[in-house]
Amino acid sequence: MAENLERLKQRIPLLDYLQRHNWKPCRAGTRQEFVGLCPLHQETRPSFYVNAAKNLFYCHGCGRGGDLIRFVQLFLDLTFHQTVALLQQELTPAPVSRLLEETTAFYQFQLHRHPEAIRCLEQRGLHDPTLIEEMGIGYAPGGNLRRHLAALGYSFDVLLDSGLVGSQGRDAFCRRVIFPCRQRGQIVNLYGRSIGAAFPHRLLPRSKGGLFAWESVSSFSTVILVEGLFDLAVLWQAGFRNTTCAIGTQLTPAQLSQLAEQPPRSVYIAFDQDYNQAGQKGSHQLALHLQGVGIRARIVQLPHGHDPNSYFVGGATAADFTDCLERAQQL
Ligand SMILES: [Zn+2]
Repeated sequence: MAENLERLKQRIPLLDYLQRHNWKPCRAGTRQEFVGLCPLHQETRPSFYVNAAKNLFYCHGCGRGGDLIRFVQLFLDLTFHQTVALLQQELTPAPVSRLLEETTAFYQFQLHRHPEAIRCLEQRGLHDPTLIEEMGIGYAPGGNLRRHLAALGYSFDVLLDSGLVGSQGRDAFCRRVIFPCRQRGQIVNLYGRSIGAAFPHRLLPRSKGGLFAWESVSSFSTVILVEGLFDLAVLWQAGFRNTTCAIGTQLTPAQLSQLAEQPPRSVYIAFDQDYNQAGQKGSHQLALHLQGVGIRARIVQLPHGHDPNSYFVGGATAADFTDCLERAQQL
């Protein structure tokens, strides 16, 4: 185990990993030491040091330090075990992403065979078949994924490891609408929204990846950030293709650093205006954080009790939503 971890760290040097995630050292010291802004906390003066020879980092600002695994764990908010699994996949990305592709294709096929799933999309205001196809939305009826994947040659262990099935062989996603989350063309996770009584949100036990569809959204100078994929889907359908989604209100440092990429952009935060105020609080904290790193952030106020999805389902038009954007306040 220890040897495997050493080999993993050697094959993915910390500095390479950081630079691939847009970290820019602003000056270099002696002996392969690099200094830059800390990707793990908000700061304006660089206090994040990387020693490329030792493959270690230390931040004098937030006091955190360690090796590649420690960094990825903090950066993507994962457990140690998930981090090691993720890094191993980076070295051999093909099999898992192929498995997720096969699974997505299977769920897409199921969507049109289950009226309850189509009904759920309709209730969520999603009716454009081209968009449903483009987003790769599918349906997990439960009970048949394992058989399908076994016929394609996947062993039970691989399926169990991926989190697609539980130890009893049952589908992890059951009676859920499925959205594949892609990053640089590859599926990195699946999000399942329950249509029954089960807990509404479910992801596979792996990184949720970066912001949803960031490759297509990052070119906009103004970005709308929503909590959920049904919010995103109705906004895309209404023509707001500059919408991205963090899947939840808590952004990982990796997602925050995407929003902060150069050139600077404006961000409209359109989270749920729920009655327990979690959405409002989340928006406020996020706006403060974004402003701290030089991003213009505005909070979009929707009519009370609404999220972007319910707003459109309730009859709002693109013009109504544009009004909300125009009224959005900077902190
Ligand atoms: Zn720090």
